[in-house]
Amino acid sequence: MKRVAILGSTGSIGVQSLEVIAQFPDRFTVCGLTANSQTEMLQRQIERFRPDIVAVMEERYAEKLRQTRNGYGPALCAGLDGLIAVATHPEADLVISALPGSAGLIPTLRAIQAEKTIALANKEILVMAGELVMRTAAAAGAQILPIDSEHCAIHQCLAGQRIEQVERLILTCSGGPFRDVDRSAFASISPADALAHPVWEMGRKVTIDSATLMNKGFEVIEAHWLFGLPVDRIDIVIHPQSIIHSMVEMVDGSILAQLGVPDMRLPIQYALTFPERLNVSWQRLDLMQRRELTFAPPDFDKFPCLRLAYQAGQAGVTVPTVLSTADEVAVEAFLQARIGFSDIPDIIAETITAHEHRMDDAPNGTFSLPSILEADVWARAFCADLVNTSSTNPLHVS
Ligand code: MG
Repeated sequence: MKRVAILGSTGSIGVQSLEVIAQFPDRFTVCGLTANSQTEMLQRQIERFRPDIVAVMEERYAEKLRQTRNGYGPALCAGLDGLIAVATHPEADLVISALPGSAGLIPTLRAIQAEKTIALANKEILVMAGELVMRTAAAAGAQILPIDSEHCAIHQCLAGQRIEQVERLILTCSGGPFRDVDRSAFASISPADALAHPVWEMGRKVTIDSATLMNKGFEVIEAHWLFGLPVDRIDIVIHPQSIIHSMVEMVDGSILAQLGVPDMRLPIQYALTFPERLNVSWQRLDLMQRRELTFAPPDFDKFPCLRLAYQAGQAGVTVPTVLSTADEVAVEAFLQARIGFSDIPDIIAETITAHEHRMDDAPNGTFSLPSILEADVWARAFCADLVNTSSTNPLHVS
């Protein structure tokens, strides 16, 4: 019996993880859950899965859960301490890290230090602090299994291979909802347009990141840390059918690929059951129904976030941290209709440039947690200022 704690149980990955867990009641139990503010959904999850401990972001939500519970009552806690209590719960064997953005960094680091196996859905953690996270995991002997379809595919393709014999990694990318939209129309894209992703069912932030292709840029940096290849040996290919989830090219020219239906439950289940595989009841890939698989190069001019991510990955130090934080702020501002879709890469680029100038003043930037958090706090404030300036600009008032 594997005991699972889920950081972010009411988000898209959290909900689908519980669906997978519910299929195999004799294999998994849920010992901890965390959520932000969706107390009604959380209450249903508590009654269904009976965790020992539950954390919410604010004390008022914990109080609400105390008042509404009927019957089963787990230990309830709030805030960062609460998240850490769930992440390090002594009963947990495996922690699913599915909090959005930077909020997951500290609880996940603490879970790693507590030697938990991590099923990692939060790629921002590796973008922000990849070196620190991987070093901490190596020191603790904690395994990190990606819940990202591309990285799950690469993990599978690499089984039995020697990493020195890998030529390059090839991440596939659906191209997002604006693959065939002319760049001149990007300025008028609304949050609702960008939230309608054609292939994958995901949370709001990752859906916008998929529309700007920043998500794919993050995945390059994520793959760099997970598999140890430099970013210039990690390529992207546009593959709109999303059937090949990613590929590995070996030095002899052989390309290994993993295929399947685009369904996040597949990588979730892989991470939960690794190294075993279990039968599933949901839809399988029918190759006869999918006769055409197409491939194209990515357009770096149309999707500048992709180039920004490669540049940040090359620059290293705290530049990827700033990339991730600036993206978080810019995407939130876009979702609130405070900036336009094409402002997202501009604001991120401006923040990175300002950060690099700032790093020249203090060139001893390291990968310690305080320096990462400092870069995060700085980028958040700088970027918020940029958002305020651009949203008060009459050009943006519609
Ligand atoms: Mg992905």
